[in-house]
Amino acid sequence: MRACRPILDGVLSRVNIDSSDRSPNAVSGELLTKMFFGGFVRLHILYHAVKEPIFGVEMMEELARHGYDVGPGTLYPILHQLEEAGYLTVHTEVVGGKQRKYYRATAEGAQALEEAKAKLRELVKEVVHDDTPTPSIRSKGRKPGREGR
Ligand SMILES: [Zn+2]
Repeated sequence: MRACRPILDGVLSRVNIDSSDRSPNAVSGELLTKMFFGGFVRLHILYHAVKEPIFGVEMMEELARHGYDVGPGTLYPILHQLEEAGYLTVHTEVVGGKQRKYYRATAEGAQALEEAKAKLRELVKEVVHDDTPTPSIRSKGRKPGREGR
C-alpha cells in the first residue's frame, strides 16, 4: 500500500484504503466493508459461535452465503481479535489427520452478543423500518447548522 497524502492521512488510515485510482463502486464497496460490514461479520461470527463451535472454512462459507466475501486473511485476524477480547475460546481437534481450530463463544462473548442485539434491534427499527419517534433529530430545539447542546 502506498503512502497517503498527509492531509488525508487521518481519514484514510482509519478506513485503511489507499488513494490509488479505482472506480467509485470499488471504493465504496471497500469503504462499506471497512466502515460497517466488519462489525456485521464479527456479530455473525459471535452468533454462530454461541450456538456451536465453529471453524474458519465453514465460517467463510457461511459468510459467503450471506454475501460477505471474507477470505482467510480477514477472517483469522478477526477470530484472533475476538479471542483476545475474551469473547471466543479456541481448541484444536484432529479431523481427517489435520489439525483444525474450533472457536466457541465464552460467557462474555454471549453477553456481548446480547448487548449488541439490543442495539441492533433499535438500529433496525429506525434505519430499516424508518420507525422514528420524532421526525427529525433537529426537532428538539436545535438550530440547523449549529452544534447545539
Ligand atoms: Zn449465519
